[in-house]
Amino acid sequence: MLSTIIGATMPSPSLTVDRPRVPGSTMACGVALLLLCAPPVPAAAAPPPSVPAPPERAAAGAMDAAHGPASPELAPMPWPAGPLSPRNASYTMEVTFAPDEHLVSGRQVLRFTNITEHATRELRYHLYYNAWRNDRSSFLRRAREQGRSYDHVPADGWAYVDVHELRLRDSVSGASGEAGGEGTDLWPGAEYIAPDDGNPDDRTVLRVPLPRAVEPGQTIEVELRFTAKLPRTFARTGFHGDYAFVAQWFPKLGVLQANGQWACHQLIQTEFFSDFGVYDVTISAPSDWVVGATGREVETRQDSGITAHRFVQEDVHDFAWTASPHFTVHTRRIAPEGLPPVELRLLLMPDHAAHEARYLDAAAAALEHYGRWFGPYPYGHFTIVDPAHGSHTGGMEYPTLITGGTSWLSPLLSRDPEGVTVHETGHQFWYGIVANDEFEHAWLDEGFDVYSTTRTMAAAFPAHAHVERYLEGLFPVAFPDIVPPERTAGSDAYAGMQSDYKRDAQAVPSWQTGPGAYRVNAYAKGGATLRTLEGYLGWSTFQRVMSTYFRTFAFRHPQPRDFFRVAETVSKQRLDWFFSQVHDDSVVFDYAVGPVQSWREDEPAGYLEVGAGGEPAAAPGSADAGPQWGSAVTVQRWGEGRFPLAVEVTFSDGTRRVEHWDGQERWTTFRYEHPGQVERVRVDPDHVLVLDVEFSNNAWLREAPAELAASKWASKWMLWVQHTMEAFAFFA
Ligand SMILES: [Zn+2]
Repeated sequence: MLSTIIGATMPSPSLTVDRPRVPGSTMACGVALLLLCAPPVPAAAAPPPSVPAPPERAAAGAMDAAHGPASPELAPMPWPAGPLSPRNASYTMEVTFAPDEHLVSGRQVLRFTNITEHATRELRYHLYYNAWRNDRSSFLRRAREQGRSYDHVPADGWAYVDVHELRLRDSVSGASGEAGGEGTDLWPGAEYIAPDDGNPDDRTVLRVPLPRAVEPGQTIEVELRFTAKLPRTFARTGFHGDYAFVAQWFPKLGVLQANGQWACHQLIQTEFFSDFGVYDVTISAPSDWVVGATGREVETRQDSGITAHRFVQEDVHDFAWTASPHFTVHTRRIAPEGLPPVELRLLLMPDHAAHEARYLDAAAAALEHYGRWFGPYPYGHFTIVDPAHGSHTGGMEYPTLITGGTSWLSPLLSRDPEGVTVHETGHQFWYGIVANDEFEHAWLDEGFDVYSTTRTMAAAFPAHAHVERYLEGLFPVAFPDIVPPERTAGSDAYAGMQSDYKRDAQAVPSWQTGPGAYRVNAYAKGGATLRTLEGYLGWSTFQRVMSTYFRTFAFRHPQPRDFFRVAETVSKQRLDWFFSQVHDDSVVFDYAVGPVQSWREDEPAGYLEVGAGGEPAAAPGSADAGPQWGSAVTVQRWGEGRFPLAVEVTFSDGTRRVEHWDGQERWTTFRYEHPGQVERVRVDPDHVLVLDVEFSNNAWLREAPAELAASKWASKWMLWVQHTMEAFAFFA
């Protein structure tokens, strides 16, 4: 049905609708073309989309007004007593940090349980630091291809991680922590492999054959010694003066998947993936260095100027740490109503002392909002690291620990460090707890977190401004009235043709995507996809979708289809028409107002009557009836994407009509007879389709001078949402 009238309080204008006749859909053709020139995509189950009528419009509008939840409901508490995760990849490590040599060396015991239904005869370890071992690595080859050059790495800037001994223990350790026997030396059979690109010089994956299979349910322990040389910061890990941020630094097991295959990609252009476990890590560092890490510090021992810091954390899938003599330590305990309390620990650089409260406020806001909307943060403590200026380690997430980032002078309205802190804190939920494979489906954490960050920022820190920096970035000036720069070319109705969204389909594995696609797909498009779904389903339904997905896949490794299933089940409607477009394909959406005309119907012209002698005669004017107007409003679909939309038509007498267009054809025309002429038309007035790539063509106003201002005004909010989503693409 084309016309669903809501909110009409004035006399109803009569309506007729016309639309073009177009045979069939072109969707299937688009998919076929994509397959010719793109990496393999899972077969798109995309019949021509049949679009159901949009539900819960009122709920969507209610959310927009408040930028917050329409429902004050807490997401259900999902945590049972006892282990939260399978804990099938646990690490005990004792390492020594030598800051002058930039070395971390020590011993690791991995305790691995095969939780699949398939036996495995090998282990695969990530050795991430070897991505910066030399310029032959796959990471640096790809970086060069994409114009990111690392030509000026100083001699001490390179990194490595080397394994010295590798033994399979004869038996699994008991309560004492010691396992018996000499064990089996695994090193002779170990080899570097390059499953993704075959690069013989890449050493980021180590394959370790085992003397006997690890059967389903069996646990083994592997002990190794390793040395990691920290890089001058590459990809947000390494050293910078006497500051070190140490991430992806230890030999880390890949993930044995349910199908019995190892997910252990080389490090090329994506982030990471690993199983959950218990980390028990002791780091020995000079006593005057402050150390922060994943987990809770449970013990310190001091000996001859060296302090051993022991951190323990259950139910996480990674471990990162930082050390510097310059950190100052600040704490705050938060206990939002209805949520478990969390102890915050902020490690702050002295030049950012003024930002203590801003960091803590932002982390607290994220834990509270995400906690209410999706599910509570389970760990009880959280560490925020303010990275050293110029270290390039800011804006990154690890379990129970993040890096923020700020500037010496940062105006409040710039929302820096609030934005990055909310985003990285938010990754505790999307990445930390719901732990998708970042090599394959980066949008499941980044896109989810961009969406959630945008929502949290709107709720907790609504004031914002465009900030320009002067004198080499030292002096920022905030311009509250300036809308963030538009990403498309003003009023170009065909802007969608150059859209960033026209890259690989979201379904293409992240590590295989082409230039630029990783960032666009993972961040802005992922975020806009969820924001569009929220607008379509309404916040109260979408909150249930998100909290159900969170609860169901916490401490697991979901796939995109898992989310799609939850969305359909919870919302009780088919959404395949949507996901097939935004995930399996890479169509762009662009709806626009087309020609709008109004004319007087009460002043007929021409021979409309028959005279007394049978001759044609002019019609008499309708003197008393008042003006009557005919109007024709055409709306158009410039993009290949199809989405049902509201069209708001406002008449000169104040009457407002909201039509619902299924958005399937290239255009449709709404016709009216009404006492007033059409004054304003807006496509998607509730800002549902955030995926629309060009907003300046979404509004039309009769008065030409005001038209520009009105359309700018209409699109300002959406531009802000999109811009925010893009801004978070600078974080990780
Ligand atoms: Zn991120």
